[in-house]
Amino acid sequence: MTVTSVLMSTVPASAQAAPGTKTGAEASALPSGRTDYRSLADYETDLAELARRHPRLVKPITLPERTHEGRVVRGVEITENAAGRDGKPVLLVVGMHHGNEWPSGEVTMEFGLDLVRNYGRDRQITGLLDKTRIVLVPIVNVDGFVKNTRRNANNVDMNRNYGFGWGESPPYQGAAPWSEPETRNVRDLISTRQVTTFLTMHTCLANMLYPPLQHKAGLPQDIGAFRSFADAMGTQNGYYHTTSADDYETSGEVIDWSYYATRGLGVTVEVCTTPLTLPRTFQSLVVDQYLGTNGFEGKGVRGSFVTALQQAADREAHSVITGKAARGAVLRITKDFPLWTNPVAQPDGTTRPLAFDNHLTSTMEVSDRSGHFTWDVNPSLRPVPPYQADGVHTEHPGFVQESWTLTCARPDGTVLQTAKVRVDRGEHERIDLKQCRERFHPKAEH
Ligand SMILES: [Zn+2]
Repeated sequence: MTVTSVLMSTVPASAQAAPGTKTGAEASALPSGRTDYRSLADYETDLAELARRHPRLVKPITLPERTHEGRVVRGVEITENAAGRDGKPVLLVVGMHHGNEWPSGEVTMEFGLDLVRNYGRDRQITGLLDKTRIVLVPIVNVDGFVKNTRRNANNVDMNRNYGFGWGESPPYQGAAPWSEPETRNVRDLISTRQVTTFLTMHTCLANMLYPPLQHKAGLPQDIGAFRSFADAMGTQNGYYHTTSADDYETSGEVIDWSYYATRGLGVTVEVCTTPLTLPRTFQSLVVDQYLGTNGFEGKGVRGSFVTALQQAADREAHSVITGKAARGAVLRITKDFPLWTNPVAQPDGTTRPLAFDNHLTSTMEVSDRSGHFTWDVNPSLRPVPPYQADGVHTEHPGFVQESWTLTCARPDGTVLQTAKVRVDRGEHERIDLKQCRERFHPKAEH
C-alpha cells in the first residue's frame, strides 16, 4: 500500500482525478469509482475532502486518544447541518477493529460518499439525513491497518478488550479491560452520543451477530428487537444472523458493552463474498458486496446501511424527550453506573469480577425560537447485565429502573435546572423546564 501511495504521488497533480473519485473505463460502480483498496493516506484524503467539499453536511471528527504508535483516528459525522448540536438519533458505523479486514473500512467509507452524493437527490436518503446523524469511523485500529495485522501495535485484539464480561478470551484480550487507546476511543464515541443503532464491520463470514458472546450470559432482554433488525438488514445484504455465542464464544467485544451500557442495538456485520467460496478480490468483496450481488442487486451492504438508518430514525425503537426550555439553552443528559468483567484471577489469588465505571453524557442545544425541543435518546431503563459483582447470571430478567439526569444550562455552563427523566423504549416523555426558561430570560426589572 505504501508503494501505491508513492507511485501515486509521482503523478503530476494536474493529471490526478479529484480525490475519492475515479472516472472513465477503469471506474467501478462504487460511489468513489475505486477498483482497489485505499491506503491510510487515501482514507485521510477522502475523509478530509468529504468535509471540505460539503461543510453543511459533513463534520470531521478526531477521536480523543492517539493509537499506540501515535496515529490519529479520524471519522466524519454526516447529517443536515452537521455542525449543529441537535437531538437527532445517531447511527454509528465503524470499520477495522481488525486491521487486516480491509473491506470493513471500504464499505464504511463508501457509504459516507454515497450519502453525501445522494442528499438532495434521493428522497429516501435526504429524509433520513434530515432526521438522523450518522457517524463513520472507517479504521478503529489504524496501527493494525498500516501493518495489515489483526491486532493493534500492542498485540491486543481490539474486539476482546472491551470491559463488559472481559477476561475469557486470552491470550490477546489485553492486560486489563480497556487497556488499549483504540477501545477507549470507541467507548468515548458511544458514551458521548445517543447511538441508538451501531454497526461494527468485519470480514469474512457473510453474517450478522448480536449478543450474547457467551452462552452462560443468556439472551439479551431486547433479543426480539435484535432479531427483527437483523432480519430487515438480511433482506438487503443476504447475510444470515445469529447470536455471537452461536457463532463462536468470545468475551470483551464492543457490541456486548455497547448494548448493556446504552441499550442501543449493536450488530457485528461480517462482510464476505456470497457464496463464501467465491475468489476473494476487491471486486467480489467490496464492489459486489456493497452494491449487492447474486440476487441482491440494488441492495447489498449499502441497502443494509440504509435499513440501519431507518432503524436509527424509528422512534418506536428508542425514546424521545420533549419539552420547552429557551432558545440557546444547552441540555445535557447523563448516567453513571458500574459494570463488570467476567470473574478473573487477581494478584491476591482470588478470582472475582472487576468493576469499571460508565459515564454516559451527551448534549444538545435548543435552537427553536419557541424554546421547544425534541431529543431522540436511548432508553433510561438499562438491561440488567449478566456479568455482575457476584459472578455471571444466565437469567437476568428485566431492566434497571434508572433515569437520565437532565440539566438545562446557559451556554457558559451555568446550570439553571436539573430534572430526572425516566423513559423506556418506544416511550415519549415530556419534561417541564419552566425554571430554566424563566431563569434563562430574567424578567426585566420594573
Ligand atoms: Zn474481525
